[in-house]
Amino acid sequence: MEHLWAPWRMEYILGEKERGCIFCEKPKQGTDAQNYILHRGERNFSMLNIYPYNPGHLMVAPYRHVASLGELNDEELLEHFRLVGRCISVLRETASPSGFNIGINLGKVAGAGVEDHIHTHIVPRWEGDTNFMPVISHTRVLPEALAETYARLVAKF
Ligand SMILES: [Zn+2]
Repeated sequence: MEHLWAPWRMEYILGEKERGCIFCEKPKQGTDAQNYILHRGERNFSMLNIYPYNPGHLMVAPYRHVASLGELNDEELLEHFRLVGRCISVLRETASPSGFNIGINLGKVAGAGVEDHIHTHIVPRWEGDTNFMPVISHTRVLPEALAETYARLVAKF
């Protein structure tokens, strides 16, 4: 697998972290569009990653603050992975990716930004995206681009 080059993530890695847990705080704020929350299930929700590896990088998380898959009950697990499936369908419909990376990073060493609230990443991939990304490597992901992606996806959920 070729790795994606997403230098704007340095801002996230080096920047000051928001206090608290984003996966607990954002759903409570009730401002889903501003927080890029795409869909709320009964036990899980999906949102855009604002420091994406690729455009349309989504995340699914349970509302409950748990650190591992083993702590999720059956209902939470079932809905979690159904929602991952839904994210894939919506991205296929709206962005025609050639493939996906679906993953869970457990622990900081594995790349988890928020390591105590489990979440699944859905990263759409296109042929040549590893070649394309460096070309725009000095371009930050602009809020307008995120808002546009959000508007396109939220309509499909
Ligand atoms: Zn949390």
